[in-house]
Amino acid sequence: MSISKSVVVELLQSFPSWRPQMYFKSSLTALSHAMEDRVLAGSDNPLVIASFQRERFYRQEAHRYRRIANTSDQVYVLASPETDFKHSSHVYETVAFEPTDVLAQEWHLIIIGQHYASCLICREKLTSTVDDKISSAIDASRRFEGIWTFDRQVSIKAAKILLERILIYRPELQNKIEQARQQYLLSQTSAPKKSLKSKQSVTSDSPLANPDPFVQRLVTYLQAGQYKLLKANKSLAIKQQKEQLLNSVTAAIRRSLDIEEILRVAVQKLGEGLGVCRCVVYRCSETDATATINHEFIRPGINSIKGRSWQLEENPLFKEVVELREALSIDHTNKDPRINQQSRSKEKEQYLQNLVQNCSIFSWLLVPVLYKDRLLGMVELHHCEPVPIVWKSEDVALVDAVATQIGVALIQAEAYANLEDLNEQLEALDRTRSNLVAITGHELRTPLSTIQVCLESLASEPDMSPELRQIMLNTALADSERMRQLIQDFLTLSRLESGRIEWNVEPLSLAECVELAISNVRSRLREEKLPPIRNWTSTKLPLVEADGEWLVEVLAKLLDNACKFTNAEGQITIDAQTNGSGSLEVTIADTGRGIEPQRLDRVFDRFYQEEGALRRSTGGTGLGLAICRQIVSGWGGEIWAESAGKNQGSQFHFTIPIFTSSPTTDNQSSSDSKSKTTKNGRKKKRGPNRQSKN
Ligand code: ADP
Repeated sequence: MSISKSVVVELLQSFPSWRPQMYFKSSLTALSHAMEDRVLAGSDNPLVIASFQRERFYRQEAHRYRRIANTSDQVYVLASPETDFKHSSHVYETVAFEPTDVLAQEWHLIIIGQHYASCLICREKLTSTVDDKISSAIDASRRFEGIWTFDRQVSIKAAKILLERILIYRPELQNKIEQARQQYLLSQTSAPKKSLKSKQSVTSDSPLANPDPFVQRLVTYLQAGQYKLLKANKSLAIKQQKEQLLNSVTAAIRRSLDIEEILRVAVQKLGEGLGVCRCVVYRCSETDATATINHEFIRPGINSIKGRSWQLEENPLFKEVVELREALSIDHTNKDPRINQQSRSKEKEQYLQNLVQNCSIFSWLLVPVLYKDRLLGMVELHHCEPVPIVWKSEDVALVDAVATQIGVALIQAEAYANLEDLNEQLEALDRTRSNLVAITGHELRTPLSTIQVCLESLASEPDMSPELRQIMLNTALADSERMRQLIQDFLTLSRLESGRIEWNVEPLSLAECVELAISNVRSRLREEKLPPIRNWTSTKLPLVEADGEWLVEVLAKLLDNACKFTNAEGQITIDAQTNGSGSLEVTIADTGRGIEPQRLDRVFDRFYQEEGALRRSTGGTGLGLAICRQIVSGWGGEIWAESAGKNQGSQFHFTIPIFTSSPTTDNQSSSDSKSKTTKNGRKKKRGPNRQSKN
C-alpha cells in the first residue's frame, strides 16, 4: 500500500489561490520547533499531526513528541521506517508508511487547538542541475516548497487529508480519528477561547494569536540569511569540488607512466567531474593535419565519436587555439561566425558546420595541452543538448589546470619511454663493448704470445743457430707488424662506428680513385707475386660524390683481399656501372678462393676470418670488410659479396652516389653527406649468392 498523491498538491487544489513558497530545510526546522514549542508552552490539548520523511528525522525529535503527548491525547506521528519504527498506540499514535509513499518526500506538521491553528505542508524539491546537487549535499540547504500558515481553514483541510491517510494505514483508529474530527475539525470558525488556562496566556494581541506580520518577517529574515549562507556554501563547495577534481585527476595521471592510461583516466575524470555531455582528449602537434579521437567520455545517450579522424589543418578553431596558446570557448556554435562565416572557403566552412551537426556540438570548449609552449594535445568539451550553455570562467580555468597536468604527465611518460630506450641502447652498447674487449683481447694476445716466446728463446738460448735466430726474429717482427695493423684498423673502425669522422665530400672520378688504389696495393705487396689486375672502369662514367680518401681505402681493402685470396695465375677485375638509382655500382671480382654461400653474411663481421687467426696464411686483421661496410654506409651506399662457392672466385660490390649539381646537394655541408646520400634511396640488386650487409 503506497499513496502517490502529494498532500501539498491535494491541499493546493482545495485552495487554488494559494501559492507555494520555497523553504530551506533549516527554516522548516526552525518553524517546526516554534510550532511544537507553542504546543509545549500551552495547555490547549491540540490535535498534532507530524509527518517525517524518514524514521531517522523523527528520532531526532522523538523526545519532544513524548513531551507533546503529555499535553494532548490526539498526537499522530508518521514516518517511513528504517529500523524499528512501526504502527503503535503506545505513547501517541505512530504510523509507519511505505518508503514508496509520496509522504517520504514530504514534511508536514499540523497543530489545531481551540485558540490557534497552524500548519506546515511541504514537499522536498528534487535537484536536477549539478549546482543544485552540490547545494543539496549541504543538508541545511535542502529545499522544500509548500505552505506554512496560521490559517485555520487551510490547517483543518490539511488535517483532514492527513487523517484520511492515517486511516488507510491504521483503519483501527477509526473511532479516535472520528473523535478528532468532531473535536477539532468542525469548528472551522471558532474564535480563541480566552477562558482556557495556559501557562503562558495567549491573547488576541499576542504575536502568536495573529502572528503573520511578526513571524512572517522573522521567517523572511531567516530565509534571507539562509539564502546567503547557501550561496556562500555553494561557491565554497563548487571550489572544493573543483579542487578535488583537479587533485584526483593529477593524482591519477601522475601515478602512470603509460601515455594511453594517462589520457584514458584524464578524459574519464574530467568528463565525470564536470558532468559534461562529451569530453575528448587527443595528442597532436601544431603541424599535424589530423588527429584520431582515441579517448572519450560520453554521458549516456550521447553519440560516440571514438575512432574518428579529427581535421586539424582545416579547422580554424584549432588554428586559433594553437596561435593564441589559450583556451577557446564557444557558447553557441550556431551563432559563431568562425563556424558559420560565409566568406570562408566553402570546403572549410562546410567541414566545421558538418562537424558541429554530426557531433551535435551546441557549445564547444577547446583547451590546449601545452608543455613549455610545445603543443602536446587538446582537450575538448562538447555540450550536445539543443539549449546551449555558457562556459563559466572557473570551468575553463579548471580544464586549463587539468590540461597543464596532462602536459606534465605526458612529458614525464615520454621521458620515461626515452629513458627506457636509452637504457636498452646502453645495454646493447655495453654488450658490444664487452664482446669487443674479449675479441680484441684475444686477437692481441695471440701475436703478443708469439713475440714473447721468440724473444724469450732468443734471450735464454745463446747457442741458438743463426738460422733459427733469424726465423725467431722474423716471426716476432711479423707478429708485431700484425699487432700494429690490428690496432690501427681497430682505431679506424672505432672512429667510424662512433660517427666521429669528418667527411670531405667532393665530386670525384671513380677511374682515378681505382688507379690510386691499385698503385697503393701494388706498392704495399710489391714483394709478392700478384695476379693480374684489370681495370675496366670507364673514364666516361659520371663523377661520384664521396670523400676521396675513404673511397680509395675501400677500393684498396677490397683489392687487398682479392690479391690475398687469389693466386698469381688467377685474375682480378674492377668494373663499375650506373645502376639507375642515382648511384654507381662498383664490382671487384676475382677468380680466387671463393666463399661458401652460407658464409657470405659473416665476412663483414669484425674479426671474421675463414681460417681463424691462428691458422691464417694470408695475414690480415679480420677488420677490413667491417671497415668497408662502415665507410660505404657513411655515404648511404650498400656493400655485399657474391660467390658461387669454394674455389669459384668472389665478387664484392658496393654502391656510391653519383654527383648531382642540384641545389639540395650543393647546399649540403660535407659533414651532412650521410643523411644526404641515405635520402637518395638506391635500390638493391640481389643475386642468388649475395649478401647485403646494410
Ligand atoms: P682480413 O684482414 O682477414 O682479410 P677482412 O675483413 O678483409 O679481413 O676479410 C674477412 C674474411 O673474409 C677474410 O679473412 C676471408 O676469409 C674472407 N674474404 C674476404 N675477401 C675475400 C675474397 N676476395 N675471397 C675470398 N674470401 C675473402
